[in-house]
Amino acid sequence: MAHALDITAANPQAPRLDGTEATAPVKRSLAGLTREELRQAVMEIGVEERKSKMRADQLWRWIYHYGVTSFDEMSNVSKVLRAQLAERFTLDRPRIIDRQVSVDGTRKYLIELAPGVECETVFIPDVSKSGALCVSSQVGCTLNCTFCHTGTQALVRNLTAAEIVLQVMVARDDLGEWPTSNEDRKLTNIVFMGMGEPLYNLDAVSDAIDIISDGDGISIGRRRMTVSTSGVVPKIVELGERTGAMLAISLHATHDPLRDELVPLNKRYNIKALMDAIRAYPGLNNSKRVTFEYVMLKGVNDSLAEARALVKLLKGVPSKINLIPFNPWPDSPYECSDWDQIEAFADVVNKAGYASPIRTPRGRDILAACGQLRSESEKVKASVLRKQRLADEA
Ligand code: SAH
Ligand code: SF4
Repeated sequence: MAHALDITAANPQAPRLDGTEATAPVKRSLAGLTREELRQAVMEIGVEERKSKMRADQLWRWIYHYGVTSFDEMSNVSKVLRAQLAERFTLDRPRIIDRQVSVDGTRKYLIELAPGVECETVFIPDVSKSGALCVSSQVGCTLNCTFCHTGTQALVRNLTAAEIVLQVMVARDDLGEWPTSNEDRKLTNIVFMGMGEPLYNLDAVSDAIDIISDGDGISIGRRRMTVSTSGVVPKIVELGERTGAMLAISLHATHDPLRDELVPLNKRYNIKALMDAIRAYPGLNNSKRVTFEYVMLKGVNDSLAEARALVKLLKGVPSKINLIPFNPWPDSPYECSDWDQIEAFADVVNKAGYASPIRTPRGRDILAACGQLRSESEKVKASVLRKQRLADEA
């Protein structure tokens, strides 16, 4: 994991050889860290190894169950230790640069994770008591699905596990949902459907899921987390084995020539290879189904023949189908299918036994709906990008 646990706290008062004034070291936030990272952190301030696990567990509960933002609130931690912690660390969240609330209650946050690294996170309240937080796993994306706004933003970088967890913490802060035991929680589910391809950042996604699902903290169960992929075939089974999360597949087409065009990754892993990997996903049954996402593009993939082909393709796989009305973005090359056509398509799918599959667009007025997310973070150089792609594909 790439956390800066090795940051050495330089003495801020020490004279520097070049004669310039030394600046105070930036304090690291403990919010978002794994248990092991917390244990390392307490050892950095001198807690003995044999007591480090107990101390880390205490911090864990304060950070992830109570959501405290100050060490002073940690009433079962001694004053001395609290002072030592505060000297070296913080419990800061990243800055919210912008927060927009849609007419339908959807909230979109633009979050600054590091200087120049911004991501979008969207909270989608449900009609009932539950609600889902759509988190980003990368800033930008290396893939270029032709209907997706994020795809027009080059990859800036992978997010760390802490940065993924912090998106959840920021939303909980804003919704006033600490401590975790709060009965009326609205944030009940997490979907990895924000910016980026989660399976190109599986280590961080997996650590983040471990943190978020921990029953002593944020406590959102693994079955309440869904990871969506455009089809990174070699990582699909590994995702299931490592996280136990629910799987969503961005399918969007039922035959290779069209899918090659819409989801260019299909040229590398075609529909047959994708379906084989999906069938091997651990634990699939009628209560743990795969969600197939299908964006409705007018005149492109929305014929009734395609609806029938879709049903045929999914035969034998425990699945749910999510028809997503295409969400337009500035200069997007597609139009959303007509509502009648979406309903006729849904009808074919419904008759084959898949219930209410149309996903109502949420937060469109604030560009918070699926595929509309994009931040202004700087593009990386083409050479760096190429390297990242090669590493992703290795
Ligand atoms: N990279 C992952 C997860 C993020 S995209 C993936 O592709 O699965 C989340 C979902 O939104 C995907 O199903 C994606 O295909 C869909 N999507 C992208 N752009 C869209 C748009 N403009 N309108 C509707 N859905 C879109
Ligand atoms: Fe990336 Fe997913 Fe958008 Fe495709 S749909 S460009 S994989 S974020």
